[in-house]
Amino acid sequence: MAGTGIFTEILDGEVYKYYSDGEWRTSSSGKSVAIVNPATRKTQYKVQACTQEEVNKVMEMAKSAQKSWAKTPLWKRAELLHKAAAILKDNKAPIAESLVKEIAKPAKDSVTEVVRSGDLISYCAEEGVRILGEGKFLLSDSFPGNERTKYCLTSKIPLGVVLAIPPFNYPVNLAVSKIAPALIAGNSLVLKPPTQGAVSCLHMVYCFHLAGFPKGLISCITGKGSEIGDFLTMHPAVNCISFTGGDTGISISKKAGMIPLQMELGGKDACIVLEDADLDLVASNIIKGGFSYSGQRCTAVKVVLVIESVADELVEKVKAKVAKLTVGPPEENCDITAVVSESSANFIEGLVMDAKEKGATFCQEYKREGNLIWPLLLDNVRPDMRIAWEEPFGPVLPVLRISSVEEGINHCNASNFGLQGCVFTKDINKAMLISDAMETGTVQINSAPARGPDHFPFQGLKDSGIGSQGVTNSINLMTKVKTTVINLPTPSYSMG
Ligand code: NAP
Repeated sequence: MAGTGIFTEILDGEVYKYYSDGEWRTSSSGKSVAIVNPATRKTQYKVQACTQEEVNKVMEMAKSAQKSWAKTPLWKRAELLHKAAAILKDNKAPIAESLVKEIAKPAKDSVTEVVRSGDLISYCAEEGVRILGEGKFLLSDSFPGNERTKYCLTSKIPLGVVLAIPPFNYPVNLAVSKIAPALIAGNSLVLKPPTQGAVSCLHMVYCFHLAGFPKGLISCITGKGSEIGDFLTMHPAVNCISFTGGDTGISISKKAGMIPLQMELGGKDACIVLEDADLDLVASNIIKGGFSYSGQRCTAVKVVLVIESVADELVEKVKAKVAKLTVGPPEENCDITAVVSESSANFIEGLVMDAKEKGATFCQEYKREGNLIWPLLLDNVRPDMRIAWEEPFGPVLPVLRISSVEEGINHCNASNFGLQGCVFTKDINKAMLISDAMETGTVQINSAPARGPDHFPFQGLKDSGIGSQGVTNSINLMTKVKTTVINLPTPSYSMG
């Protein structure tokens, strides 16, 4: 159970502690933030509402711990990461249980998230020792007018303090996808977990604590993003921000100083379906892509753009599969569970009602109880409806019927988002042309959009992000290139 067994140290009465300077602490604010269980709508957990002074302290510690961490051999950094990964996987049950209670993620998927996170940490440790163990050696005489009098040596150096802010939907996985590359590269790390997901993150951080990382190198500050977020993101000690979430990322990027940013933001992933597509394959992927974790995935299929001639058949196939989705508590592994909050459910309902007023065809009856929204496919959606463009982040999927592939590509490219997209066709040549024309960070051919496996590059264009994720890209983003040039008094050419 969460907060028990090896984890008792992180709980103070009924409020979870925050982590600073290698110690689990109670905030001097005397205040806590409630975490409401999305399914029961009752307070499930409480976390500390940290103060600005506590943030200052954490930053000071992070700066000084980083100096010695950067002098720790790579193999030793990797060893500690492997240890943390093993502890995390050994303790998957209580962490997964917190995910179920905080974000209503189905129990099986919650376990998968923790295990995948352990694998990501290990992979990152392995990749780090290789890519950080290599540099470049350049010779001056390849540039016109130069003799071979300069030897240039490059290596990758850490940035300093990395601030990591993950979102609620994959709080553990998207936290470690920032923590592991930051640490292997020699940075220190300050984590601000999402409020819904904070308790899972605190358990995960405890696994790093048990692995024996130096004091102050990793910290976890809890509190509402709206209250403590600006102070954290504009803190002068921060040398890099790795953020995943919604539009908040756009405002952070406008306020942040001259530091590297890794921003993974929202998406409106389009699924373009051609006449020759295998419609059974498309229907299964629409269900998996559109409705898993109740549509609360950045890479969920968020709009289907289907050629009119096959639209009726596809909609029938998807409808039949929607009817089989189970709806209910995450503990029972239902396919559709409550969305994260009442405000999120209200927002989704607003999109649905707008589509209703404007004449979309409802393939199922709209049904909602509290934060639980039954899966809904909306056919004959038109571009004047909000749901054609906005990200519902819920189990509600619009279908737009198109008369040509160009119409589909144009719709996809008119979006302010550009995360992923997918195309279904048996013609690989057409698929490649469509992929090239789509203004998105990734295009999947004959499968639903997805992040991962976690070493694949993952990036959004336009309002969907800055920089690229994926183990190697994250390590590179969290380092800088340093060069040393050896100047020789006379040209020297190495002879064979
Ligand atoms: P969100 O509301 O933007 O929150 C993300 C994180 O930002 C949370 O930790 C939140 O903390 C924090 N935050 C809020 N205000 C802040 C501020 N002023 N300064 C700094 N941090 C602040 O997003 P969400 O609702 O958790 O997640 C859903 C969104 O994430 C969707 O748009 C989805 O598409 C996107 N997403 C993108 C990716 C990707 O890789 N592209 C992956 C997953 C999700 P609190 O919880 O305390 O408010």
